[in-house]
Amino acid sequence: MQILVTGGCGFIGSHTSVELLNKGYDIVIIDNLSNSKKEVIESIKTITKKDFKFYEGDVKDTELLKKIFTENKIDAVIHFAGFKAVGESVQNPLMYYRNNIDSTLSLLEIMKEVKCKKIVFSSSATVYGNPQSLPIKETFPLSAANPYGNSKLIIENILKDLYVSDNEWSIAILRYFNPIGAHESGIIGENPNDIPNNLLPYIVKIASGELKELNIFGNDYNTKDGTGVRDYIHVVDLSLGHIQAIKKIINETGCDAYNLGTGHGYSVLDIVNTFEKVNNVKIPYKIVDRRPGDIAACYADPSYAFEKLNWKATKTIEDMCKDSYNFIKNKNK
Ligand code: NAD
Ligand code: UDP
Repeated sequence: MQILVTGGCGFIGSHTSVELLNKGYDIVIIDNLSNSKKEVIESIKTITKKDFKFYEGDVKDTELLKKIFTENKIDAVIHFAGFKAVGESVQNPLMYYRNNIDSTLSLLEIMKEVKCKKIVFSSSATVYGNPQSLPIKETFPLSAANPYGNSKLIIENILKDLYVSDNEWSIAILRYFNPIGAHESGIIGENPNDIPNNLLPYIVKIASGELKELNIFGNDYNTKDGTGVRDYIHVVDLSLGHIQAIKKIINETGCDAYNLGTGHGYSVLDIVNTFEKVNNVKIPYKIVDRRPGDIAACYADPSYAFEKLNWKATKTIEDMCKDSYNFIKNKNK
């Protein structure tokens, strides 16, 4: 079974590629390296001791996609490729809509043409907007607060319309909560070049001495300690969710969405304290104003994914904090 992984050099794509190869799937990766490095390909090969083809290029490039589908017998696609920074999407919405939506349309058109009608799509918990209650179920109303979230929502709707038009399609929409952590080898992980926007990459850069102090965005939310609560999920658990989704779409047609989260909410202070404890480092912080657009709390009800995909997360918040730091320590050696 051969899987095309778009965005396979990125954070989640690289970890999922490792799990696919370890489970005996063949893979082909396409990535334009707009937010990743080519060396990740070698890292995936080092971890798995398996070989695969890599096409450096853009998913918007329909000629390249045709070539990939002609040169390989692709059974299904996992579509990670896309831009993901909320703030940047507010600054440059056209770039976000062009990249995220155009690439998906090009991909789906070629898949339709070659009759490869099985796709797993990376969506996000951001499609729930500001949820009215917790934990979040897949049936909750959907809304988008920024162009990034809206691009995910639009693509979800495109996929649903596609299935209505042709029920030979088999589509799994995976709504990720907050992926963190890294592969236990320390060989792949998340290492943004710029100053990180997300909590864990920021904390890791403080621990490694690249940044001085964490700004905690508000301690006056209606949460257990006033700081924001999120459902952090280990990237390896998340990757294994994709394997289960692939098994599902290979066997059945349909179009369905699944929450991939742990079901547990941790506050910013929980994360700081756990990170300090498991890594024996100090994370200096100060409380600053709330970040515009942030919600107080967000965590999943992951029971539908367990029921339908036979998947649930097993790694702890301690594992996530340890593995995130281990990757950077290994990288900076
Ligand atoms: P990432 O930026 O690390 O990986 C995305 C990869 O896609 C990168 O390697 C990038 O070079 C590539 N890419 C982007 N546009 C492309 C294009 N047009 N053609 C070819 N390659 C392209 O991001 P990630 O964290 O691995 O996220 C993967 C997917 O999951 C994204 O769609 C993202 O929106 C979604 N997601 C991520 C998170 C998160 O917190 N990381 C949460 C929810 C959803
Ligand atoms: N956060 C913070 N300081 C930072 C980055 C994030 O206090 O430098 C908080 C943020 O307000 C939220 C939580 O950490 O409550 C997770 O933020 P992240 O950006 O990682 O994820 P998202 O908000 O997109 O779920």
